[in-house]
Amino acid sequence: MSAPLFERMAVIGCGLIGSSVIRAARVRGVVGMVAVADASPAVVERVRALGFADDVGADPMAAAAGADLVVLAVPPLAIGPVAAKIAPALKPGGIVTDVGSVKTAVAEAFAASLPATVFAIPGHPIAGTEESGPDAGYATLFAHRWTILTPQARKDEAYLAAVARLTAFWEALGAYVEVMDQRHHDLVLAVTSHLPHLIAYNIVGTAADLEQVTRSEVIKYSAGGFRDFTRIAASDPIMWRDVFLANKDAVLEILGRFTEDLQALSRAIRWGEGEKLHELFTRTREIRRGVIDAGQETPEPDFGRHHEVDPPA
Ligand code: NAP
Repeated sequence: MSAPLFERMAVIGCGLIGSSVIRAARVRGVVGMVAVADASPAVVERVRALGFADDVGADPMAAAAGADLVVLAVPPLAIGPVAAKIAPALKPGGIVTDVGSVKTAVAEAFAASLPATVFAIPGHPIAGTEESGPDAGYATLFAHRWTILTPQARKDEAYLAAVARLTAFWEALGAYVEVMDQRHHDLVLAVTSHLPHLIAYNIVGTAADLEQVTRSEVIKYSAGGFRDFTRIAASDPIMWRDVFLANKDAVLEILGRFTEDLQALSRAIRWGEGEKLHELFTRTREIRRGVIDAGQETPEPDFGRHHEVDPPA
C-alpha cells in the first residue's frame, strides 16, 4: 500500500464538513493519524464515540501541533481567530487550509496570522446539506462535487507543490478541484449559494409571519413549492449568519441586481406582459437542464422524491 498523502491531519471543528473530510480521507487512505479539536464538549464526546479520529479534545493548538495538514472546519467568523490561536503550534512546511463558505475574509486572516513557514491555502468544498454535527457527515459528500481553492499570489515552487498536494487530497476524496481568485469566489458563491439561502430564509419568514394565511395552511399546502425552500431555510443559523456578515459586499452587489430583476418581473405581471414571463421561464428551464447534464443534480423529477404509483389499498 502506498504512503498516505499526509501523515498527520488535524481537523478543527468536527461537524458536518469536518467529519465528512475525515470519513472520506479514511476511506481513501490518504491520511495516517487524525487529530480533532472542537469547542463543543458534546461534539468531542460524540467524535470519541464514533471512533474515526485517533485523538480528540478541546484544544486546537494540541490538535494542530505537528500536523502536516490542518483543516479548519469551524463557522466562517471563527476561522480567523482559530488560525491566530494555532499559529504558534504549526509545523514548518505543513499546509493550513479551511472549508469556509467565504474566502476573501479567510485569505486576509491567514495572511495576518499564519507564519511564513507554513503553506496557507484557503479552500471551499461546494457540497453540503442542511444538517449539522458529526453524525451528519458521510464519506461520499464530496464525490463529483467541486472544491474551490483560492491560493495566495505566491508563485514559488514550494508553494505550488503544496497547492498540488492539497489538490491531490481533494481529488482523492472524489472532488473536482478548481483554483480561483478569492474575490471572484465570493461573487460566484454570492449568486449560486448565498442569495438562494437569503431568498429561502426570507420567503419562509414571510410565510410564517402572514396574517391572512395560517401557519397550518402554509405547512399543509407546502408541496406547491414552499417545502423546497424550507430545506434550504433549515440550514445552520450560526454558519449562515457568519456567511452574510463575512461576504457583505458581494452579497449586497448581487442582491441589488436581483432586486432590479424582481422589480422588472413585478412590472411584467402588473402590465400583463405574458411574453416576458414566458421568455424568462423558458430560459430558466434550460439552466435546470444544464445543472442535471453537469451531474450536479438527479434527473429524477421532483428531486427524486419517492411517489406511490398506486395508492396503498
Ligand atoms: P457544523 O456542523 O456546525 O460544525 C462546526 C463545528 O465547529 C461545531 O461542532 C462547532 O461547535 C465547532 N466550533 C465552532 N467554533 C469553534 C471554535 N472556535 N473552535 C473549535 N470548534 C468550533 O458546521 P459545518 O456545516 O460543518 O460548517 C463548517 C464550515 O464549513 C463553515 O465554515 C461553513 O461555511 C463550511 N461549509 C459548510 C457547508 C454546509 O453545507 N454546511 C458546505 C460547505 C462549506 P458548536 O456546535 O459548539 O458551535
